[in-house]
Amino acid sequence: MATDPAAGGEAIAAPAALRSRLERLGLRRNEDLVLHLPLRYEDETQLTTVAAAQPGVSVQLEVEVLDVAVQFRPRRQLLVRARDASGELWLRFLNFYGSQTRSLEGVRDDGRRLRVFGEVRSGFLGAEMVHPRLRPVDADAPLSSALTPVYPTTAGVGQASLRRLIARALASVPLNDTCSPAELFGGGSEIAAASVAAAEAKSAAEFTARLVPPAPTLWDFARAVTYLHAPPPDAPEESLQARTHPAWRRIKFDELLAQQLSLKRASLARRRIGAPLLAAPGELARALLAALPFPLTGAQRRVGAEIAADLARPYPMQRLLQGDVGSGKTIVAALAACQAIEAGYQAAFMAPTEILAEQHYLKLSAWLEPLGVSVAWLSGSQKKSQKRAAQAQAAAGAQLVVGTHALIQQDVDFARLGLAIVDEQHRFGVAQRLELRRKGDSPHQLMMSATPIPRTLAMSYYADLDVSTLDELPPGRTPVRTKLVSDSRRDEVIARLRDAVALGRQAYWVCPLIEESEKLQLQTAIETHALLAEELVGLRVGLVHGRLKAAEKAATMAAFAAGEIDVLVATTVIEVGVDVPNASLMVIEHAERFGLSQLHQLRGRVGRGAAESACVLLYQGPLSATARARLRVIHETADGFEIARHDLQLRGPGEFVGSRQSGTPLLRYADLETDVDLIELARDAAARLLASPSGQPAVERHLARWLGWREELLKA
Ligand code: ADP
Ligand code: MG
Repeated sequence: MATDPAAGGEAIAAPAALRSRLERLGLRRNEDLVLHLPLRYEDETQLTTVAAAQPGVSVQLEVEVLDVAVQFRPRRQLLVRARDASGELWLRFLNFYGSQTRSLEGVRDDGRRLRVFGEVRSGFLGAEMVHPRLRPVDADAPLSSALTPVYPTTAGVGQASLRRLIARALASVPLNDTCSPAELFGGGSEIAAASVAAAEAKSAAEFTARLVPPAPTLWDFARAVTYLHAPPPDAPEESLQARTHPAWRRIKFDELLAQQLSLKRASLARRRIGAPLLAAPGELARALLAALPFPLTGAQRRVGAEIAADLARPYPMQRLLQGDVGSGKTIVAALAACQAIEAGYQAAFMAPTEILAEQHYLKLSAWLEPLGVSVAWLSGSQKKSQKRAAQAQAAAGAQLVVGTHALIQQDVDFARLGLAIVDEQHRFGVAQRLELRRKGDSPHQLMMSATPIPRTLAMSYYADLDVSTLDELPPGRTPVRTKLVSDSRRDEVIARLRDAVALGRQAYWVCPLIEESEKLQLQTAIETHALLAEELVGLRVGLVHGRLKAAEKAATMAAFAAGEIDVLVATTVIEVGVDVPNASLMVIEHAERFGLSQLHQLRGRVGRGAAESACVLLYQGPLSATARARLRVIHETADGFEIARHDLQLRGPGEFVGSRQSGTPLLRYADLETDVDLIELARDAAARLLASPSGQPAVERHLARWLGWREELLKA
């Protein structure tokens, strides 16, 4: 059904060339046209005069044509002299056809009039309009009775033909509501509810108390779309533009309802897919726990049990494990891997950077190889022969395969993938996460992130995700002291660094972020390294950045981890996941250039051992208001969730959605930030519809209207 171009409705009747252009706009069916809503409006319901036209404002004039001439200097152009009762006006066209010239001459000769729409400005010859929209009319032709919609469009599809097609679609497509208010909000009609309440209530007070809260009042769908495509002349411009008008709210609600229904249905469908059964006695996990130098935190135990229960279910797990930096997500993932391995399956563990992936590989193989587990390592920077060997291991059934994006390359096959683990999941796109899943036969999936998903996203885009949260840090961590220090006191900071190293501690020195140029950033890192090596004579100063060969990077990280480097100068390559417990001091240069969550992630690299840790944020004034706000938050808060909340406020949710959004062209109208109340309403309505036995036809109708052939795109 999804391949039927007209799924859920009638295909648009238009010539093939136009149809394929419309398809670029996502328009295949008449129903799609109905939901193709204007970006803005032009007011052709009134006429102005040449004399009264304000500069910078689009107006409509009615003029008679005096002269039509093609000029060649300064460049070829069509010039039309026109006038109304108040004065003269030039119409100027730089691109035009011969037919246009002739038709304008026709208007002049027949004594008809021209309605022109555009901005009047004062040109070389006097008042002029450049490339106005124009329409020949007879005298006394009626004005438009509605505002003129301006639609999103693409090359080769003019506004006029879109308007025509949409008007035709509005007349032919049934516009009834897909669901009744009772189906959406329950409670039957308010009158019925009131009469029941009246009959049962013993007192007036009880009567009021028993009254169900009235269903939210939404416009009818038909009223909303008709209004938005053709608002009356006196329509409130502001609320239409801000999309807070009741007509818009209806549309947004319906759109969100479709999203909720489709996500919930996908989640129900997932439950019918068979997944690898990973019920295991738990010997391997117990052996790993026994070998660990620490007991699990309460949060780790709780979350571990949630995951273990998921893995024993016959349908694929789809779980997000969120926990602040340093909360100990890796061991939880390792325990999940143990369960898959013990059940006779493979686990894959994918991380977004070479450094992080390699650290995971080293840690996981140190934990698991002594227990007899085979661990393979696959990264993009390996030599061909190494890569081939790793691929052969994966294909032959290596029990745990750790790697970077290299894991999802085409030539990688798993013998029996049971569990796909994605670390720092927000660093990957949907497509990439999906690729990893496709390496197995509906494997379970565990995603991890230190960046908690904001509530609105959790309710919308991620509604089909179960979430576990590590809300407790392992004991014995000393909180990181964060200091804001002006760049002018750099020398003092260097002196402190020297003292710390003398006490046997190690430090990171994070180079400034230079977003505009990777090359410049690299250069800065190299210069900073040279400078610090000079200033810190006698200390071992290392350098790690993204352009190093993987082997060099790995060697430097290993030397730092082994205590052979005192001060590691680094770019943001160390931002995620790097874990060297003895490093207890971090200096971040030009901290004002970093984002909040980046600073938090960076700071999370220290404070991992028992030693008291500090993070020095060097900044260079003057600070912008947002930079100051960011630095204040990071100085005052250590809680990643709190920081993420501020981040969302300062930046908006785009960052979190990442490439998910591009794969999900569903929310065209609703806005995750401003339409929270509608998301909640839609979520509850979707749950009610899906739970009610009679709701099914309404669900089908609604999804057909909003998604139709698009639903296929949402399966990601
Ligand atoms: P993140 O959640 O940031 O990925 P990691 O898994 O890297 O955190 O863990 C951070 C550090 O804490 C690691 O050195 C890890 O071995 C250690 N760790 C994890 N769990 C515990 C625990 N329960 N007790 C003590 N240390 C722990
Ligand atoms: Mg981690």
